[in-house]
Order: sequence, then C-alpha cells, then structure tokens
Amino acid sequence: MLADPPQDDIAPPLLEAKEALRRVFGFENFRGVQQDVIARVLAGQPSLAIMPTGAGKSLLYQLPATMLDGTVLVISPLIALMHDQLRSARANGIRAATLTSADSDWRETQDAFRAGELDLLYVAPERASQPHFRELLAQAKLALIAVDEAHCVSEWGHDFRPDYRQLRGLMDAHSDVPRLALTATADARTRADILTQLGLPDEALVIAGFDRPNIHYAIRARDSLARQLATLMAEVPGPGIIYAPTRKKVEQLAADLAKATGREVRPYHAGLDPQMRADNQSAFVASEDMVIVATIAFGMGIDKPDVRFVAHAGIPKSIEAYYQETGRAGRDGDPAKAVMLWGAGDFVQARARLSEVPEARQRDEQVRLDALAALVEGVGCRRAVLLRYFDEVPPQSCGNCDNCNAPPAVIDATETARKVLSAVYRTGQSFGFGHIQKVLTGVQDDRVSQRRHDQLSVFGIVEGEEAALLKPVARALQARGFLTATEHGGLALGGEARELLKGEASLPIAQPVKRSRRKRVDPTPNPVGDPLFEALRAKRRELAEEAGVPPYVVFHDATLREMASQRPSSREELGHLQGIGAKKLDAYGTAFLKVIAEN
Ligand code: ADP
Ligand code: ZN
Repeated sequence: MLADPPQDDIAPPLLEAKEALRRVFGFENFRGVQQDVIARVLAGQPSLAIMPTGAGKSLLYQLPATMLDGTVLVISPLIALMHDQLRSARANGIRAATLTSADSDWRETQDAFRAGELDLLYVAPERASQPHFRELLAQAKLALIAVDEAHCVSEWGHDFRPDYRQLRGLMDAHSDVPRLALTATADARTRADILTQLGLPDEALVIAGFDRPNIHYAIRARDSLARQLATLMAEVPGPGIIYAPTRKKVEQLAADLAKATGREVRPYHAGLDPQMRADNQSAFVASEDMVIVATIAFGMGIDKPDVRFVAHAGIPKSIEAYYQETGRAGRDGDPAKAVMLWGAGDFVQARARLSEVPEARQRDEQVRLDALAALVEGVGCRRAVLLRYFDEVPPQSCGNCDNCNAPPAVIDATETARKVLSAVYRTGQSFGFGHIQKVLTGVQDDRVSQRRHDQLSVFGIVEGEEAALLKPVARALQARGFLTATEHGGLALGGEARELLKGEASLPIAQPVKRSRRKRVDPTPNPVGDPLFEALRAKRRELAEEAGVPPYVVFHDATLREMASQRPSSREELGHLQGIGAKKLDAYGTAFLKVIAEN
C-alpha cells in the first residue's frame, strides 16, 4: 500500500482540506501524494501530477473545487470520461456540469457558470479553444484550470491530440489562475514535454510511484484458453475484462465463456454495430458481475472502479501497454487480478511483424518485445520487473504475484534446448513444433517416415521425464527469439541459436509445475454468503437503478463491507464509514440503516 503521509503538523489550508475530504467524500486520509498536490493547488502553485490509475487523481481538482472561490475548469479528452466524473461528483453533492455535444442543458450550465454557481465545469479541448467558449470564460470566475490526460499534449505520448496544444494560449490568457496537469502515463521525455507545452516550471512536477499494490499479477502459458478463463471467472465473481487479439477471437470467446460459465459475457470490438458497442459498454459499466471480451479498442475512457480482473488472452503490445491495460483493474483499491495467458506463437508472430515496422523503429520494437519476453518468462517477482521498467527500485519480492506466492524452481534446460534446436536444423527448418516433438521422442508417422526423419541422429533422443520439458523449452526458445517462424509456420533458427548450440549460451527456465500446485484461490474481499451484505447490495442496485447510475456511484463495495461488519445503527455512526459524505448520508442513509436493522 502507498504509505499515508504523516498528517500531524499540517498547514491550516490543509486542515480545511482534510475537513472537506471527510465531509464531502467521506474519506479519512489523503492517499500518497494527494496531500502534496492539493497543498500546491490551494497555494496557487502550478503542478503536473503523475499518478498511476486508481491513485485518486480526480480528487486533486474535485476537492479544491468545493473549497475555492469560483469554478474549476477541467479539460478532458472524452465525453464518456466527463459524464462518468459528472455522476460521481454530483452524487457527492458537488455542483458539476459538462458542456459537450451530448448535453442538452447548455443554457442552464452557462447561466450557472456566469453566476458563480458551479464548482466544476468539464469541457473537451476542442471546445475550450473556440472563441465562443473563451468569451464565456471571460464572464466567469475561474478557480483553477485542470488538464486531465495531459500526456495528450505531447507527440511523444501515444494519444497525441493537436487541440491540447491550444490550451497553453487559453491558460496564458488567464495567467492569474493556477494550472494543474494530470496523467497516469508519462516517461521522462513526455513529462518534460508536458511541462514545456503547458508552460509549467520544472518544480511543478509531483510524481507518485507506479505500484498498484492491490493488483495480483499472474502470467501463465496458455494451454486451453477457454477452460483457463472459465476457471478465472469462477474464482472471481466480479466484473472483468478479457483482452483478445482479434475480433474473431473476441466473438468466439464471448460465446464460449457465456455457455461454459452461465455468466453474462459480452463482446466489444471496433467492428461491432456502433449501437451494440455502446450498449455493451454501458451495460458493463453498470454491472456488478459482467465480463466483457474485447480488443484493445476497449478501455480508454472507461472509469469503472470495481473491475475485479483483467485477463490477456495473448501477449500485449509492450510492458507499457500491459501496465496500462491491467491498470483498469481495481481502481477502487480492493483486491483485483491481472492474468496473462501467453503462447509461444504470440512472440513468433510479434517478431515476424517486426519486419513490417519502419526500419528506424525496428530496434526499439525489438527491445520492447525482449523486455516483454523477460517479464513473461521470468521466475522472479512480476511487480519488480514492471516497476524496474519504469525506473523504480522495488523490493525483490512483493508477496502479491504468482512467482512470489509460489516461487518456481529454476532448472538448466540447455541440453534439451540444444536437442530441440538441432532437430529443427536437421529437419530443414520448415516443420512445426508437433513434428519436431515426434522426431525427438521417436514417434513414427507417415510424414516422419516419408521424409526419413527416423534416420536422423536426433530421432528418439528424448526419453522419459525430459519429454515433458520439450514444450516449455520450445516456448522459451520462441519467446527469446532463438526460434523464429518461417512464412509457412514452420520453425527456424534465429537470434543467438548458434551460440546455444555451440555451448556459449545457456537456457535456464522455470520448472514446469503440475497444474494443481499452482492453483491457489485468493480470498475474495467481499464476504461470501453474508445475508446482510447481499441485502445491502440489493438495496444499492435498487437505488442505482432509480437514479439511473451504476451501483458504484451510490457506494463502493468497501463501504458496503464496512456497513455489514460494523452494523451502524444511527446516522452519526453511518457517517463515520469510509466513502459516506454529507450528501450521500442524506440521500441514502435512512434506506441503508433500515436494511441493517432488518437483517
Ligand atoms: P484516477 O483518476 O487516478 O485513476 P480516481 O480519481 O478515479 O483515480 O480514484 C480512484 C478511486 O479512489 C475512486 O474510487 C476514489 O473515490 C478513491 N479515492 C480517491 N482518493 C481517496 C482517498 N483519499 N481515500 C480513499 N479513497 C480515495
Ligand atoms: Zn511479486
């Protein structure tokens, strides 16, 4: 967990901020660097906050919005994100509005803004730079300009949005208004660029660590994909996202998993009818147990805090992409899982695609793939690999990943690897793994005898227990590029295969484990079969439906768990639980106290 900063000797504005934190949001303490950034904002200093997903960035402007005179203007890239925030802010009693093409209450919003009756106003960058909007700004009082997803201002980042470049002019026109930029993903180069592009001084930078301690990472070889995913779904009853590589795979998995598990599973990809895509997305956001199978087109702009697992049915594009995609799990801080199921073919294909990349970028892309292979194949702490990738210096072991929970033994598979490589070489570098396996273990079939591969010196040289190593060894060789694919899907020698054959390199791998040893059911955070908890959930569903919002906007699971375990019997006791501010206490207090009294 991010350590809470010491809160004893704090400045008066921060005392007031803590009071607002409790009253409006129902939270007892700031998390991580929240306190530093809020202190800067309240002091009128500019900031660029780099904080991982789920660290609580929106609080950095929502809280000051309730304290400062005037309106906090938030620039946000997506309508879906704005509306999501709008719902949550309003549920906490914050006077918030959006001005987007999807809104019909423009007149009311503009009037309220001019009259100083808005705490928060969200707009897209395109809107922000229009003359009409600038005129509107001149007629109101601004307390802060917050630029969300600030990496969009940089061409180095992956989501460059030209309109973000106009924001500098807008902010310079209001030079007395403090600026706050926020993002979850920015390497050093992007960070420097954001500072320049938004006119922020170097000392504006506040960086929180990249760690997401509540996410459990597990990476396994894919043996039977649908079965492995169905097992995961049985272990984790909450909402989940499964990333699949192609549209076809998305459709097929969604259908198979719905059938195998009986749970609601829906597909999402860019080829779906737009209406259906939008329906599936909003149904997922509102759901407490739906699973969505999607291509990577899904995710940006989805702020669902209670996603309990993110699974990858194949390798992601890079470690950055993996971090970002798995980061969609557990934003509410409750335990969540990230599970990657990879196959040797994923790497073979990715390496084959390298040749299509412009030459200047090939080297970089190869380094990225190697880093990903090291993560996937590594026997050490997964979190440590991820954090080191982002230049942090993490502890050796995190205690919350597959390799820390059940450290795999490392064996030297160099001998077996040499046998595989030489079988590939001697059969002419054109056969797939199935055939190589037959040759090495001495299995006769038509093809083996036709090609006279039973006459080769490598025929039948692998016996007994070593046979079980062939598949993991081939996988490791492919992940590391010692084996590559031919045009027709056969295996060929690649990379440093020759060094391995000559005895100048070795191949340590994780000892393959029998399936049952790895299986470990993590405790789910929610009490299972507690009638009070279930009754509270039912009440939450009912109130959410009435209000037309997702259940998490009413209360997070963590708040319901506290209700179930502490059984508050008065409004005052209820108000002390986390996540219950004044507005929610008013709106829902009586209804939930009744449920507690009756169960
Ligand atoms: P981000 O935008 O950084 O991904 P959010 O602003 O969506 O994160 O916050 C993630 C979750 O953490 C939200 O559910 C929010 O209510 C919760 N949260 C934020 N700050 C705190 C805090 N100080 N204490 C407890 N929960 C918090
Ligand atoms: Zn670990």
